[in-house]
Amino acid sequence: MALKIPQEYLDSLKGLKPRIYLGGKRVNLLDDPTTLTAVRANARVYELAQDPRHREVMTATSHLTGEVINRNLHVARSVYDLEKRAEMALLTSQELGTCNYRCVGADTLTGLASITWEMDRDLGTGYHSRFNDFLRYLQDGDLACSGAVTDPKGDRGKRPGEQEDKDVNLRVVEKRDDGIVVRGAKVSQSGAIAAHETIVVPTSSFRPGEEEFAVAFAVPNGAPGLTYICQYTPFTAERESAQDIMELGNPLYGVRETAIMVFDNVFIPWERVFMCGETKYAGRLVSRFAKTHRMNCGGACKVGFADLIIGAAQLAVEYSGVPKAPHIVDKLVEMVYLSETCHACTIAAAVKGREEPAGSGIFLPDDLFGNVAKLNVAHGFWEIMKLAGDLAGGMVVTMPSERELSNPDASEYVQKYLKAAAPAKDRMRIAKFLQNWTAGLHGPGTWHGAGSPQAQRMMIYALTNLEEKKAMAKKLAGL
Ligand SMILES: Cc1cc2nc3c(=O)[nH]c(=O)nc-3n(C[C@H](O)[C@H](O)[C@H](O)COP(=O)(O)OP(=O)(O)OC[C@H]3O[C@@H](n4cnc5c(N)ncnc54)[C@H](O)[C@@H]3O)c2cc1C
Repeated sequence: MALKIPQEYLDSLKGLKPRIYLGGKRVNLLDDPTTLTAVRANARVYELAQDPRHREVMTATSHLTGEVINRNLHVARSVYDLEKRAEMALLTSQELGTCNYRCVGADTLTGLASITWEMDRDLGTGYHSRFNDFLRYLQDGDLACSGAVTDPKGDRGKRPGEQEDKDVNLRVVEKRDDGIVVRGAKVSQSGAIAAHETIVVPTSSFRPGEEEFAVAFAVPNGAPGLTYICQYTPFTAERESAQDIMELGNPLYGVRETAIMVFDNVFIPWERVFMCGETKYAGRLVSRFAKTHRMNCGGACKVGFADLIIGAAQLAVEYSGVPKAPHIVDKLVEMVYLSETCHACTIAAAVKGREEPAGSGIFLPDDLFGNVAKLNVAHGFWEIMKLAGDLAGGMVVTMPSERELSNPDASEYVQKYLKAAAPAKDRMRIAKFLQNWTAGLHGPGTWHGAGSPQAQRMMIYALTNLEEKKAMAKKLAGL
């Protein structure tokens, strides 16, 4: 059985030497308090797969080897698999309060499985068997993969070939007998620093003449020429100065950690290249990745986050002493209704999933429901955070540090004046937890993660059969 235990994952990282910069200095993945949050989150995902209570959700049977594998490395072969994939996103969010950093990688693998099958069928290429060899390698080693889609893109008003610096879209700069050399970057890379491999796919559709950008491949962590430049936020600074991580909003797993991943002439051997110049298929790959990822992000991952926020808001009102006030109950109901509406869209996207392309054996979710799930959550999540802020009170942003409780000059005052129906310490802990959500990075994160809402609007318009709806209306109206 190819399932790593958390310690094996941690040991495997010791052999990696990623070049990571954070806050203007080089850091070691296993020493830095911020990079460690991504490591811990991955270790927890390995642990969840070992837990008999979560086996059904966190593991699957490989269609390549028949072995039990981590679901993050499984390509959906049925509607049941799609449902379980979404349940994994829900569970990991509830358990971590941050990314399952293997999630984007999982969805790029599904997109690649589907598109390489189609390219082989249409063009007679050998990409799919190459991809399957790579997938087998990942599954055998239970390797953690991140997914790299988003290019820096430069001037959004210009095509890739018109950019002042063409490297703002990752591209092939040399083709050799043994492989390709790529240059460029991928931005906002969730957890790439702590993954064994990164799966790289194009950022958008490309036209004939833009072949150099239509490239998909896998690259191991720390490959020569790779540099990771991490995000740095007030949460990073706060973690760096923490005396006890329990004073932080999400002590163990932190906020969602990303990095700019720079590819400075990185060599990729042919056996790890899964698209190279097939512009016609680049857009299809992105959209197959996106429909899977939007299903998981929209009404599963963020629903897990919402469950945490709703739970914390309920605790906050119990601690403040007014849990049954009618407007408070109403606001909690509103939060649940918003969250579960997104959840329902994701379940619908999975249940309405189908084999794509027909005959491939690979299942993808319904596109319309997946996009609706993501668009719904982009709006709903802000609302849920607003209501949580309302219920928990101004203390969510005005609270002093929990360190004051051990400050002999301030402790007595803080305990006296922040006590309500619960002790000050409990109120402060839950307020800090909610600060992490309502005054943190999760609003814009949920908005843009899995694509900015305008991308979903465009897809919803393209997928809607307005002619059919017109015909229905005309029939009943007698036109
Ligand atoms: C927390 C978080 C985690 C992420 N994790 C990952 C990850 O693991 N892997 C990964 O690959 N990506 C990841 N992303 C990136 C995410 O997919 C992008 O943020 C998203 O696709 C938007 O791209 P952008 O950030 O470049 O924004 P922009 O493209 O700059 O968008 C900003 C605004 O400009 C508009 N716009 C952009 N282009 C055009 C145009 N041509 N015409 C008109 N309007 C335009 C958009 O609609 C939007 O309103 C993550 C993002 C976040 C926030």
